[in-house]
Amino acid sequence: MQTSFTPGQLADPATASSEGVIRKCVHCGFCTATCPTYVLLGDELDSPRGRIYLIKDMLEKQRKPGPETVKHVDRCLSCLSCMTTCPSGVNYMHLVDHARAYIHENYKRPWHERAMRQVLAWVLPYPARFRAALTLAKLGRPFAPLIAGVKPLAAMLAMAPRRVPAPVAAKNSTVPGAGARVALLQGCAEPVLKPEYRAAAVRLLNRAGYDAVFAAGEGCCGALVHHMGREADGLDAARRNVDAWTREIEGEGLAAIVVTASGCGTTIKDYGFMLRNDAAYADKAARVSALARDISELLVEADLPRGDGRGLTVAYHSACSLQHGQKVTEAPRRLLAAAGYVVRTPVEAHLCCGSAGTYNILQPEIAGRLGDRKTANLERLQADVIATGNVGCAMQIGQRSGTPVVHVIELLDWATGGPAPAALAHRNA
Ligand code: SF4
Ligand code: SF4
Repeated sequence: MQTSFTPGQLADPATASSEGVIRKCVHCGFCTATCPTYVLLGDELDSPRGRIYLIKDMLEKQRKPGPETVKHVDRCLSCLSCMTTCPSGVNYMHLVDHARAYIHENYKRPWHERAMRQVLAWVLPYPARFRAALTLAKLGRPFAPLIAGVKPLAAMLAMAPRRVPAPVAAKNSTVPGAGARVALLQGCAEPVLKPEYRAAAVRLLNRAGYDAVFAAGEGCCGALVHHMGREADGLDAARRNVDAWTREIEGEGLAAIVVTASGCGTTIKDYGFMLRNDAAYADKAARVSALARDISELLVEADLPRGDGRGLTVAYHSACSLQHGQKVTEAPRRLLAAAGYVVRTPVEAHLCCGSAGTYNILQPEIAGRLGDRKTANLERLQADVIATGNVGCAMQIGQRSGTPVVHVIELLDWATGGPAPAALAHRNA
């Protein structure tokens, strides 16, 4: 795509990067067919190609974005399905990240949107605040009909789990004769909503011969605020985590930084790019990104005991952040099959479930339609259990499905000597 940025504009590294992305797009439109919002809404401006035009226009003219541009960029899930499809290697992720940051700086949203985004940024990345908010939301659920018109609030109340798990401290776990030590991301939302994921991860890592450690001072990866355009907040989170893991790397050493929430993994693998212009952090961030691995990538190379799969059939939901963001497609399936499970894949496996970080709160209608569609496709497989690699997907599908939804690592842990996942405890004979 031709561009007409001025040399002055291109002196800005973010604009120069976006210009490079835009110029790679050849308008072929292949990406439209696999974009969930285009598939649902059929509007070119809700396709990757349409959004690239809108973003190019906004950045080139350095204009304050109008509500129409913001609407179509906001509707993007950042699922990155377009990046898997694109034959020209357009890095849509970096372009839309820049567009979101530009919008955050240059567009005044209506007060209720600003308030909602501020609350999300203040609550979600902090486990204690998030736990308190979930408890409040649980108490507020009976009043949901009173706020049905305030859709993001109603969506938040509907998503609050019926039981808020008690907090579980992150404790290092070593094994005699371990070959290496790995840091496990503590993160923010996952340990609040599903502390059992971390417990399963630690057992699996130990069984695979790794010491599992938690770096002091590390926390939310920054993805939640980064995807709302709050660039400074996202970079602060990235720097804090880079510092925490650098202390470990330069101390006793790390073989990997292991992530059980693929949405976070995609962001941590991008820290090197996010901090490329920060002289004090660029090298350290690149080193952290190079060490980041989804837990399935690490385990597939390990010598885990084989399992009998408990006679179960698994419908595997591949999270967008894993299949499109990190291009990890086969490792979870191979691990489940090696553990003895029969693995089935739904139709439209490339389409997002609608969770997408804060998307299901900020865009509840589209998220709901995608969630229903994904759940129907998974249930059509008539499997005993649905497994995925991202807590957001598990919550989104679990809300809608009568089939138990678990993390892939819970099934692997069970098949190789761990306890049954809570959602399947009744089968632990
Ligand atoms: S990231 Fe997903 S929703 Fe956004 S343009 Fe690409 S395919 Fe469409
Ligand atoms: S597939 Fe790639 S090159 Fe083709 S229109 Fe989409 S982003 Fe542009």
